[in-house]
Amino acid sequence: MPLRLKKMARVPRGEEYDVVIVGGGPAGISAAIYASRFLLKTIIVTVDVGGQLNLTDWVDDYPGLGKIRASDLVANFRSHAEYFNVSIVDGVKVNEISKDGDMFVVKGSRGLMIRSKTIILAVGSQRRKLGVPGEKELAGKGVSYCSVCDAPFFKGKRAVVVVGGGDSALEGALLLSGYVDKVYLVHRRDQFRAKPFYVEQAKEKPNIEMILNSIVVEIKGQDKVESVVVKNKITGELRELDVDGIFIEIGFEPPREWFKSIGLEVDGQGYIKVNEWMETNIPGLYAAGDCTNLWLGFRQIVTAAAMGAVAAYSAYNYLVEKGLYKPVKPAIIEEKMG
Ligand code: NAP
Repeated sequence: MPLRLKKMARVPRGEEYDVVIVGGGPAGISAAIYASRFLLKTIIVTVDVGGQLNLTDWVDDYPGLGKIRASDLVANFRSHAEYFNVSIVDGVKVNEISKDGDMFVVKGSRGLMIRSKTIILAVGSQRRKLGVPGEKELAGKGVSYCSVCDAPFFKGKRAVVVVGGGDSALEGALLLSGYVDKVYLVHRRDQFRAKPFYVEQAKEKPNIEMILNSIVVEIKGQDKVESVVVKNKITGELRELDVDGIFIEIGFEPPREWFKSIGLEVDGQGYIKVNEWMETNIPGLYAAGDCTNLWLGFRQIVTAAAMGAVAAYSAYNYLVEKGLYKPVKPAIIEEKMG
């Protein structure tokens, strides 16, 4: 597939679409590809293309691709959507979705204002914070929320802490073990929710020390992280680790209040409630990917892409059933995908 990067410079104001897809991660891109194949006038509005893929180094679990750099996959996602002539507006944050008669009105940064018959929300979720003293003050000064993004900055340093027991933490600890002398992996339980593939590799690494049943209680330092205080939940014992950084990889939280302000029903954790057709409680508004309550605990590129495809199919069926379906002229950009 050609990596033909195109950026839509103009932020639309007043245009009408069949479907507006909010979010440009795997769910949003997949939704866009399917929507345009159903001949819907489709636009993606997103902060960035790729979403959480931009926080990953390599991908080796997407069928047919073998092992691929995440940045290459993101570029392929963009060019694949553009192959079907999907408009992509990135660098824009949607902050308001309301209803005006039969149409949704979508407003966002940089003056975005568009109208649409349907919406697919694929906005993912935000990084969870620890909420301990020192975290806010030393953010960006040794406190990081993305091992993949920031690991190279720690090359040659003596030690770092990684917090968490999921795939992100284990993957991060493994990556960091190649950059620093010592990695302390601090997890609040003695069982990991990460895939055994990562856990077994981490156990084999001589410079990863697992500190289990433990939580971080304080991050210390003047202008940068100097140490991290860890408490054993069973014994109560405190241990101060001399480190240059801490990577907080404890999962994600959806923007619950924003969803509620749109009128969406959310579950106890703030994820949008959807059924197997990605329908929300608002007719014509679908959700897909990490912002939904479907398949919680198993967030994969392939599952997000599946949800996006289903959401597009549902949006298409909705338009047909409502008599609102007016197929656009097929406009595939005539370029071969390799
Ligand atoms: P996650 O799976 O939700 O794991 C979060 C981890 O942080 C859990 O171990 C949790 O502990 C811990 N945690 C949560 N809140 C905490 C707190 N306040 N203090 C201390 N620890 C806390 O998050 P993730 O690892 O970021 O993964 C998110 C999703 O992306 C998952 O579905 C994952 O499979 C997927 N992912 C996949 C890959 C891959 O396949 N290569 C890579 C990265 C992420 P408990 O276990 O005790 O709850």
